[in-house]
Formats: sequence, structure tokens, C-alpha cells
Amino acid sequence: MGFIDRFLRTRKFSRGIHPEDHKRPAADAPLRKMPLPKRLYVPLLQHVGAPARAAVAVGDIVRKGQRIAAPQGAISAALHAPTSGRIVAIGDIVAPHPSGLPVAAITIESDGRDEWTTLTACTDPFALDPAEIGRRVSAAGIVGLGGAAFPSAVKLSGGREANVDLLIINGGECEPFLSCDDRLMRERAADAIDGVAIMLHATGAREARIGIEDNKPEAIAAMRAAAAGHPKIRVEPVPTRYPMGSEKHLVLALTGLEVPANGRPADVGVVVHNVATAVAVRDAVRFGRPLVSRLVTVNGACVREPGNVEVLIGTLADEVVEFCGGLRADRGAPARLLLGGPMTGMQVPSLRVPVIKGTGGILVLDGDEVGLRAPGPCIRCSTCVRACPVGLLPLEIARRIGAGDLDAAVKFGLKDCIACGCCAYDCPSHIPLVQYFHHAKGELAARDRHKLRSEATKTLAQARAERLERETREKAETAARRKAGPDSQPAPAPRPTGAAAQPTGECA
Ligand code: SF4
Ligand code: SF4
Repeated sequence: MGFIDRFLRTRKFSRGIHPEDHKRPAADAPLRKMPLPKRLYVPLLQHVGAPARAAVAVGDIVRKGQRIAAPQGAISAALHAPTSGRIVAIGDIVAPHPSGLPVAAITIESDGRDEWTTLTACTDPFALDPAEIGRRVSAAGIVGLGGAAFPSAVKLSGGREANVDLLIINGGECEPFLSCDDRLMRERAADAIDGVAIMLHATGAREARIGIEDNKPEAIAAMRAAAAGHPKIRVEPVPTRYPMGSEKHLVLALTGLEVPANGRPADVGVVVHNVATAVAVRDAVRFGRPLVSRLVTVNGACVREPGNVEVLIGTLADEVVEFCGGLRADRGAPARLLLGGPMTGMQVPSLRVPVIKGTGGILVLDGDEVGLRAPGPCIRCSTCVRACPVGLLPLEIARRIGAGDLDAAVKFGLKDCIACGCCAYDCPSHIPLVQYFHHAKGELAARDRHKLRSEATKTLAQARAERLERETREKAETAARRKAGPDSQPAPAPRPTGAAAQPTGECA
């Protein structure tokens, strides 16, 4: 038994679950490329942070890769035209989100030519200043492609500023049904390793470790072969256990270091990026290509030809499913539509929504895969407690939420919950625990926003009252001085004399 196995058996990561992975046959089909859609819908918010601001107008002609929206603020990401064509609308579309609420988007009608704009290539990325790599990654609009969608340039520069020692590349892909990272590592291993080497240079870390679950032997072999000439890059298999792909668990598995509850991997000298992000960084830095497409797993019993597809950002999910042969008539109506995996993905009411940068999967599941069963009462069996990889008491958090006591739920660790879904997956009463937690976190966020607004309003009102009081006092003092006559006016400031009295730039 290796160190990692021993470690995981003795530490917190003996928690977590072993869901059926449902990765094959999709994982075994070679990558395919989706043909050019007629229209692409590019939401302005598809990353963590502030939405991008449109930099084009309706009627503009754009080339593929041209920037069409600029980032706003430090945490934001630029957007680029996924193909050449004409901007036909800037306005609301249905968001790729469970709410189905509107989101602002830029709609492009393809001209069918798919012509790139002029790109700036670089023959030697290792001769670039690390900060310049960050600037190129930022200009390319790259965000974490593992689903987090955090702007990658911010993470790269943050790693450098925090003097991280170790770059961890997440090739875990622990979520059932998904296999796009697996396919990427099998088919573009050399590009992935090149991207990791560029990221090492950008972060200043001493070495990189690529963690891949041991249920992906082909990916491990391909990545090891590609990394053979790179002494600073190691490929390490990690045990197959959900949620191994969560940053904190991967750090624990590969280093034995525990990231503090409210901390970041940088607190223990580590920065974590997804393996698909490494390929995007390589494409951006070597060839100047912005992020305009990604790999997406299309899977589920209802899909005729499951597999992994390269899809332009902004393509409608139902067109991608159609490309994969459409739906199987013998399975009846789908029981659940998901963007992302079944544990952390988003259930959506319809697939007439666009693929965005963080969309790793389009799942069309039948009733057997969803396991549709009505929830029963909690029998206090503590299965959820044993399953939780963070060491929380999910049943107690759920009880507090049910009673409307969010503060008590926070005391029981609601904010530490990583929404992995292990507790709900294992609960014998089929209680949708993770949905309660999602809902409660949404309420907490709304409450925090309200509190911030109230505090800001109070501060502004206080500042206004103080200003009015000061103005009234000053007016009264001026009036009193006028009444008292010229002797009571304050004396003018004395004029300076000598050289120092000469205004700058005047002849002496
Ligand atoms: S696993 Fe389900 S039934 Fe068991 S204690 Fe947790 S919430 Fe209750
Ligand atoms: S969803 Fe939250 S409470 Fe449930 S197992 Fe995951 S981290 Fe624990």
C-alpha cells in the first residue's frame, strides 16, 4: 500500500463516497468536433466575479477570437467571438442556471467562414516575464475549466505573490458521468504538459504534481509519457473516491497538507489549476488563442451516442445533444437535464441554453439514473455524517435550516459545506440535503447583501448629516464675523519671501 492510500485511510479522506461512475462508454469514444452552429449566445456573466461589459454593438462584424466584452474590475474575464459573423442582438436570453432567469448575452450570427482575427503567437513562452504570461492569460479570458470558472490570471498572479512552492494540476475528474478531462489527457497529453510547464514558469512554483484518479489508467500512461522529459513535473495516481476533485481534498491527497476551513490552498503553499485550464493557457500563450471553445461530455441513458465533443462557447446545449444523435425514443421523456455532473452540476428546465466556459457536461438522465424516490423522514442513522468529506453533521445543519434558524446552521458549519452532495447521495431516506444547503446559502448571501446595503446607506446618511451640520455651523460663524466687523476676520496667511517665494517656472 502506497503512502497516499495509507494516508487516505487514516485521515479525513476515509470519508467521501464511491458512486457508480457511469463514465463508459462516453469515455472510450474519441473526441469529436461539433460543426459550426448558425447562432451563438455568449452570456456576459459566465465566470466568478463581475460580468463583462459588451464592447460591440448590434450590426458589428466580428472575427473569431475578437474581444467582444471587456472584464470589469479585478475579478472578471474578457469574452471573445467564438466564430466570425455579425452581432445580431445584445440582450436577455434564458440563463444556463436552475432559475431559468434572464441573463444578458451577445448573440452572433455565423458567416460560415469561421475566420480568426489576427493572433499574437510566442515561440518561447519561457523567455516571457511571468507577469506577462498572466497578462496574456487574462487577455484570453481564461477561467478555471473544472467548473469553478474563477479567472485563471488572478490565480496565477496570486500564486506568484504568495510564493507558492507547489503547483497541483487537477486531473481527478471524480464526478460521475464526466470524462472530458480524461479524454483530453489521453489525446492532448503533450499540450497539457506544455501548459503545466508554462504555468510553473508563471507561478514560480518549484514543482508540479498532476493528480489523476486511478480509474483512468490510459490518461495516467499518456501523461506520464508526455512528462518524461520534465523533471519538475510528476504524474501521481490518486484513489478513486468522490470528491477527490475538490481542491482541498486533492491537496490533502497529494501533500498531506490540510487547507484551513476558511482558507485557500495558497495558505499551505499550493496553487491548484484544472488540467483543461493548462491546455487553454498553452494555446493562449503559444498561439495567442483566446478561450472560445471547450470539451463537453454529453452523457446519460437518454442520449443516443454519448461522448466528448469540442464545442464553441455559446452553442445551445440541445444542438450539442442533437449532434450526439439526439435522444433515444425508447427511454421516454428524460427525468433530469443537467449542466455539469450529477453531484455538483445544475439542473436546468430546458436545454435551450448555451454552453458556457464552466460547462463540463450535458447530461440527459432517465428515471433509473436519477433514482427518483420520495424523501422520507430522517431516521438519525448518521450515514450522512460518515459520508461528509469535510467532517460536518449534515443532518444537524438540515434540521436548523428546516427550523428557519440560519445562524444555528452556520454554527454547525453551513459555510464550510462544499456542496459535494455526498450526504444526499448516501442518505437512505433520500432527503435532498444538498438542495437544502444550496437554498440556505442563497438566503445567507441575500441577507449579507441586504446587511451591506443597510450599512452603506447608514454610513452615507451619517456623512450627509455631518456635512449639513458643518455647513450650518460655518454659515453661522461667517455671519457672526460679518456682524462683528472687519477686525474679527481671520488674518491672511503671511506671504513667503526669498527664493522659496518664486512660483515654479517663473523667471527670477
Ligand atoms: S443519512 Fe439521512 S436519514 Fe440518516 S441521519 Fe442523515 S439525514 Fe437522517
Ligand atoms: S454537501 Fe456539504 S454537508 Fe453534504 S457531504 Fe458535501 S460538504 Fe458535507
